[in-house]
Amino acid sequence: MNIDLIPEELEFRDEVRGFLADDYPEDIRRKRDQGVALTRDDTVRWHKALYKRGWFAVEWPVEYGGTGWTPVQKYLFANELAEANAPLVVPFGVKMVAPIIYTFGNDAQKSRFLPDILASNVWWCQGYSEPGSGSDLASLKTKADFDGSDYIVNGTKTWTTLGQHADWIFCLVRTKSDVARRQEGISFLLIDMKTPGVTVNPIITIEGGHEVNEVHFDNVRVPTENLVGEEGKGWTYGKVLLQHERVNIAGVAVSQYRLNKLKTRAAESVRGADPLINNQSFARKIAALEIDLRALEYTELRTLASIATGQAPGPESSFLKIRGTEVQQAIDAMTMEAAGYYALPYVPAQYTLDFPDIDRIGEGIETRTSLQYFNNRKASIYGGSNEIQKNIIAKHVLGL
Ligand SMILES: Cc1cc2nc3c(=O)[nH]c(=O)nc-3n(C[C@H](O)[C@H](O)[C@H](O)COP(=O)(O)OP(=O)(O)OC[C@H]3O[C@@H](n4cnc5c(N)ncnc54)[C@H](O)[C@@H]3O)c2cc1C
Repeated sequence: MNIDLIPEELEFRDEVRGFLADDYPEDIRRKRDQGVALTRDDTVRWHKALYKRGWFAVEWPVEYGGTGWTPVQKYLFANELAEANAPLVVPFGVKMVAPIIYTFGNDAQKSRFLPDILASNVWWCQGYSEPGSGSDLASLKTKADFDGSDYIVNGTKTWTTLGQHADWIFCLVRTKSDVARRQEGISFLLIDMKTPGVTVNPIITIEGGHEVNEVHFDNVRVPTENLVGEEGKGWTYGKVLLQHERVNIAGVAVSQYRLNKLKTRAAESVRGADPLINNQSFARKIAALEIDLRALEYTELRTLASIATGQAPGPESSFLKIRGTEVQQAIDAMTMEAAGYYALPYVPAQYTLDFPDIDRIGEGIETRTSLQYFNNRKASIYGGSNEIQKNIIAKHVLGL
């Protein structure tokens, strides 16, 4: 997008570039460029590099350690990081539970949890979904019964992303069953994963990765001081969190980076053949994606601008989620198309890939292409499926 940057903004952009040149760890950069998955330690080191520079909690209020940046600065920062192929921040602590704690938590919770989230000393995960309660989240059954001193938690959470690394989990739990509306009687609880009775079992996704888990609670004792806000108001807090989550999922800057990379590769000639970018049908699809991305960028900037005025993102976060993930998946599909059979994860040695008439750009794209394609089918499901986002738009934007 062509934004006319004022001198201070250009200076800021150079500062971010300088930071990336000096403080983006070289081994992590190499792994990212080779498509190698990062370990927990890699992620924490990257978080801490951002924290040291004061740039980890971009959205937080300044009083808690946030940046106080303008929407344009946030936009430039996200773009520079994407351009450097830097890892995305794992959102569960800094972008998800922290805003709930500083908005609805008490002073003791703020001073207990926020500094460790800011410094990435503690890894959080999200315990909303349950087997049978995903889109229909208000049907959740994990119970937290008050026994006179503590909550006793029983139930199962599922699809818990990176829960295998987590020290803490934030959960929506049912504290009251005899309620007029199912959304009532749900509370927001912070649970230490080391508490006896918590077990984590892996779920292996279609591309073979271990990213998600099932988390079981068997008579897990949770002190009442870990309840955020009022008992029974968890649904309200949980909804605010989901709106923040959806803005983050759109991933506009990263999509732009990936699209640029695809265009560069497609412009290269393979064995003297006409470059793929000269193929009319391929070029037309790239152009359509460029237009979609441009529209998304403007929507994202509008949303960032309204967040900067202190408003929580509203239903526009659903637009961003739908179109952002559709564009991501379209780029995945285009990259598969471009790579052709080179994208296959395992090509048996007896098959030669040396077809002289091939105009695909597979060589060098590596087998990560198909892993990314399959892994990212998730994007239109998590954070509330895209069908559910359309229901939200129908109700809250179109008034249907
Ligand atoms: C990779 C991955 C990571 C995730 N990480 C987390 C996490 O860390 N923490 C967490 O709590 N959850 C997480 N989730 C869960 C995610 O939020 C749910 O998967 C999602 O909300 C859908 O719920 P469900 O899987 O139960 O599917 P269902 O609700 O059973 O939906 C099945 C299908 O029916 C459609 N559908 C359902 N109801 C309607 C309706 N009313 N109108 C139209 N269509 C409908 C859905 O769109 C979907 O296509 C993750 C999911 C994935 C795939």
